[in-house]
Amino acid sequence: MSDSAKSKEVFDFFRKKYDTPYSIADLTATVCELCGVKAPEQCAATPIAAAVDQGDKLMNGIGKTQKVLLFCADAMGEHQRKNFPEIFERIEKISTFRFLSCSVMPSVTPVCYGTIFSGAAPCVHGIEKYEKKVLAVDTLFDAFARAGKNVAICAYNNCSIDVIFRQRNVDYYSFRTDEGSFKCAMDLMERSNYDLIVCYMNDYDHTMHATGPFSKEAEEEANRAADRYTAFTQQADKCWEKYNHAVLFVPDHGGHLVNESNGAHGTDTPEDMLVNHFYRIKAGK
Ligand SMILES: [Zn+2]
Repeated sequence: MSDSAKSKEVFDFFRKKYDTPYSIADLTATVCELCGVKAPEQCAATPIAAAVDQGDKLMNGIGKTQKVLLFCADAMGEHQRKNFPEIFERIEKISTFRFLSCSVMPSVTPVCYGTIFSGAAPCVHGIEKYEKKVLAVDTLFDAFARAGKNVAICAYNNCSIDVIFRQRNVDYYSFRTDEGSFKCAMDLMERSNYDLIVCYMNDYDHTMHATGPFSKEAEEEANRAADRYTAFTQQADKCWEKYNHAVLFVPDHGGHLVNESNGAHGTDTPEDMLVNHFYRIKAGK
């Protein structure tokens, strides 16, 4: 079986199991299509037609999306949306689309972001358990670099996203805090010529492991994630006003309550496997 067929089999299996039309892998295919960039080599996912059509409509079929910010809020899944409806309403209200998508197994960070940014299943991209090694397959970031675009990844020191996408034609900004990554991405939107910026946020995931997914502390971090997504959309409207642009909210998996005071993920259950990818697509002026 070809790599592409293997990946498709995995995506179809979870789509059917969780009765959702989308896989987290569709993100890479969709962003490439929106931006007119050839998808990475092993990408077996499908561009989401609603998002691509909206992009084409807004840009009058002449241009493509020129600037993209991907806000990767770890573990902010569908189970979180159901339990924090007001927080996710804030996210949805400023987005053009919400796509309920199924993750891949095991539902842990390097496995899931490996799939999200390669469009390939874990058995193809090579990270099949919780391990942080440099991804050996082609990714969204390589595809953008080949198309002559500038890519930046802002992330917490040694987190999965900081490690698994290394050794590419990308600028890496690494910080001791999520706040450092956030401020850096905001600053890069204003002062640099990056076309694709990734900002990773670890704190909701970290807090939900330590205190449970719906603790007061975890809720504070979920609120902060909504605040930061809002700030990115405002910054895009200000700094990328002239460009067709997109700001996306891109979680990897959800998370569930284990006992009174802890949270976890990694299982093949709706709590861990369902996430929403939000897209906000705007035409330049
Ligand atoms: Zn994660």
